[in-house]
Amino acid sequence: MWLALLTAAPAALAAKVAYYDATYRAAFKPGIPHAQVQLDLAGEKLPSKVVLRIDPKRYRNFRSSEPIEVTDDEVTWRPQGNRSSLSYEFVVNHQRSSGSYDSYITPNWALFRGDKLAPSTRVTAARNLRSRTTIEFDLPKGWSAVTPYASSGEERFRIDDPKRRFDEPEGWMLVGKIGVRSERIQHVNAVIAAPEGDSARRQDALAFINWNLPKLLEVFPDFPKRLLIVSAGDPMWRGGLSGPGSIFLHSDRPLISENRTSPLLHELVHVALGIRGDKESDWIVEGLAEFYSIQTLRRSGGIGQNRYEQAVENLKKWARRAPTLFGKSSTGATTARAVLVFQQVDAEIRSLTNNTASLDDVARKLAAKRGEISLTELQEVAQQVAGKPVQSLRREELTKPVVEREP
Ligand SMILES: [Zn+2]
Repeated sequence: MWLALLTAAPAALAAKVAYYDATYRAAFKPGIPHAQVQLDLAGEKLPSKVVLRIDPKRYRNFRSSEPIEVTDDEVTWRPQGNRSSLSYEFVVNHQRSSGSYDSYITPNWALFRGDKLAPSTRVTAARNLRSRTTIEFDLPKGWSAVTPYASSGEERFRIDDPKRRFDEPEGWMLVGKIGVRSERIQHVNAVIAAPEGDSARRQDALAFINWNLPKLLEVFPDFPKRLLIVSAGDPMWRGGLSGPGSIFLHSDRPLISENRTSPLLHELVHVALGIRGDKESDWIVEGLAEFYSIQTLRRSGGIGQNRYEQAVENLKKWARRAPTLFGKSSTGATTARAVLVFQQVDAEIRSLTNNTASLDDVARKLAAKRGEISLTELQEVAQQVAGKPVQSLRREELTKPVVEREP
């Protein structure tokens, strides 16, 4: 009887949900360094208040059919009636502290993140009110757009994030005169795009993913259905950067570097895991990305046992230069040290479970949870998998100076 009730309940709840349309329209013109963006809301009921968190250097000229309040870091908009819109200019170029760009526009293309084109938004609305969000591009002749989302019309993409009541665009986007290749690898539709004439080796990258992704999917079966990889050359940041369902990789980066790591696989693991560290735990995020980058190459036969062992030797030398794992962001030596920790954790879980479980099971559980990760959570998940506390994850163990130990 209560089974019938249970099945009836979600339907009753669903009936109460009301939707309104939220449409981001982004217009680009060659030679103009910003996009003209308009957010249109339409529906029987609209949110009562929309607050955008802004960086005044990147967003300007806010206008609306309703009165708006604009301060240095926020824009407050109170939509009215059944239809309301807000427009602004989005300055595409953005330089990192290193001087290279993580968002860039030329007369022929623009590369940026969807969650920058749309500033972070806080919506006040009735509890049952949800957005049906799309992003549409108004582009010069000969231009096209790729985003992490499936196309739902000409240069139009539907954004659906079931966890949110107001869906905002996220991940990497490339518009312009671009070349695109795509391929389906198991359940994943992989799309690789770069500006026309760019040196990015799209076919090589696709072949590389074709042979490595299946190994990664064995660890992460819930990998996003769509994967977008965008590349461009200088002055873009000379590395890889991942976003939801998408990756930027500088065109000049090799698929496998001299030290046997793969920047592309590293970013793919970030997409698969979808986790970020708390204030001291970036080493968990970066360590797992690098661990599975090297492991995937080994499992796919991309590197043999000898070259794998050399890679581990390199990591050991490098790790000695990391005074601690715990810090706001983990790079080079810290990440090398973190990879060695995960090797020990893997070995310990395998030995505690007679080889019936491994770090793969921990990583899979973390990917299912997603979101922020702390050492305590990692210890808990590892304990669930191993059946008892994992010694190599004890804080005392992790804070010891690095000594060479065989995994
Ligand atoms: Zn990383």
